Amino acid sequence: MHTLFETGAKIIKRLNDNGHEAFFVGGCVRDFHMRRDIQDVDITTDAKPGEVEALFEKTIDVGKAHGTIIIMTEDIPFEVTTYRTDGAYTNHRHPDEVIFSNHLNEDLQRRDFTMNAMAMDRDYTFHDPYDGRGAIERHEITTVGRPSDRFGEDALRMVRALRFMSVLNFSIEEDTEAAMTLNAHLLKHVSVERIITEFKKMYGGAALAEAKLKLVQTGLVRHIPFFADIGEEDLLRSRVHSLLDELAVQIIKSPALEGGLSHLKLSRKEVGFVKSCAALHGALEDGMHPLKIAYSFDEDVIGRFSAVNDENHLTDQYPALSEAASLKKSLPISSKQDLAVGGRDLMALFQSRSGPWIKECLNIIENEVLFGRLKNEHNDIIDWVRRHVKVESGSA
Ligand code: ATP
Ligand code: MG
Repeated sequence: MHTLFETGAKIIKRLNDNGHEAFFVGGCVRDFHMRRDIQDVDITTDAKPGEVEALFEKTIDVGKAHGTIIIMTEDIPFEVTTYRTDGAYTNHRHPDEVIFSNHLNEDLQRRDFTMNAMAMDRDYTFHDPYDGRGAIERHEITTVGRPSDRFGEDALRMVRALRFMSVLNFSIEEDTEAAMTLNAHLLKHVSVERIITEFKKMYGGAALAEAKLKLVQTGLVRHIPFFADIGEEDLLRSRVHSLLDELAVQIIKSPALEGGLSHLKLSRKEVGFVKSCAALHGALEDGMHPLKIAYSFDEDVIGRFSAVNDENHLTDQYPALSEAASLKKSLPISSKQDLAVGGRDLMALFQSRSGPWIKECLNIIENEVLFGRLKNEHNDIIDWVRRHVKVESGSA
C-alpha cells in the first residue's frame, strides 16, 4: 500500500483511539480510486483544532481559525482539518465564517465536485454519498448540489472545473457546464492569485486544448485579466505546456498585451522569464549575433523558447537559435563580473577619475573577450587597453 496512506493511517488511528472520527478526504481519495500518483494526503476529523494539537507532538498552526492543523509524521506534513460547513458567502468567494460540524456528510457537502467529495477510512472503506466513483467512471465533473448555487457561492470552482478537465482528461457534465456559461461573469469577484494557481495546474494537464476550448466557449475567458485581451483564435491555436509559455507566445504574437502582464500578479522571476522570451524573439528577428544571444539570455529562456518555437513557429531564425544554444556552454565569460579587470584597474592604469568612460571601456573589453579576440587574463587585457584605448582629460 502507498506509504503516504500508511503513515496517514497512523494519524487517523490515534484520532480514532481517542474517540474521534477521522478519514482521508478530497483529492487523495479521488486519486487513490483512479490509481493516480498521490502527492499529498488530507485528513478530515470531528476533532476540534485544539483537540488535534493536543494529541500530536509536532503540529503547525497553518489556519487554526479555518480548522486546519498540519501534523508532521515521519517528516511528512499532513493537513488535518476539522469537519466544516461553510457559512454564508458574499461576493462569490470564500465563506464569511467557518462553522465546525460533527458530521462527515456535512463536510463532504461543502466540497466542489462529487469526485472530490469522497472520504476513506483507514481500512480503505469509501464514504461516497454523492457517487463520486460513478462520476469518475463516466469521466465526468459534476458539482455537489445545484451547479448554479455552488458557483454562486465561490466562482473559482468554475476555473477548477477547467483545471480538472485538463489534468484528468474528464468532461464537464451538461448542467454543470450550462451553469458555468450562465455564471461566468461572477469570476470578476475572484482574486487573480486564486485563478492563476488553478491555471498553472490546468496548463500542465494533458487535455489542455479541450480545457482552453471550454474556457472560451463558456465565456469565462472574458473575465480573466490578460486572457480577456487575447484573440480567441490565438489562444486556441497556441501549443504550450505551461502558463508562462502561453503568456510568452501571446505577447510575441501581440506585443500590446505585455502591458497587461502585471495584472496577473506573478512573481518578478515569472514576469522576467516571460519578458525575456519576448525579448529573445525580438533579438532573433533583429538578426542579433548568436554569440550575443547566448551571452544575453539565460539558458532556460533559450531552451524553453526553442521548444515553444518548435511547436508554434514564432520565428524562422532556427539556425541562430540553435547556434546560440550550443554556444552557451563555451562562453568565455557569462557576465561583466567575470572580466579579469574592473573599473578600479582602469582608473589606476590611466590615473583618471571615475566617470562614464569606465563603462564604455569595459563594454569594449567585454565585446573583445566575448568574440575571442582577447583573452580574459588581467595582464592581457591591461596590455590591450594600453595599446588600443586613449584617455584624454579624464575620459576614454
Ligand atoms: P490536487 O491533486 O491538485 O491537490 P485536490 O482535489 O486535492 O487536487 P485542492 O485544491 O488541494 O484540490 O483541494 C483539496 C480539496 O478541497 C478538494 O478535493 C475539494 O474537496 C476541496 N476544495 C478545494 N477548493 C474548493 C472550493 N473552492 N470549493 C469547494 N471545495 C473545495
Ligand atoms: Mg490537494
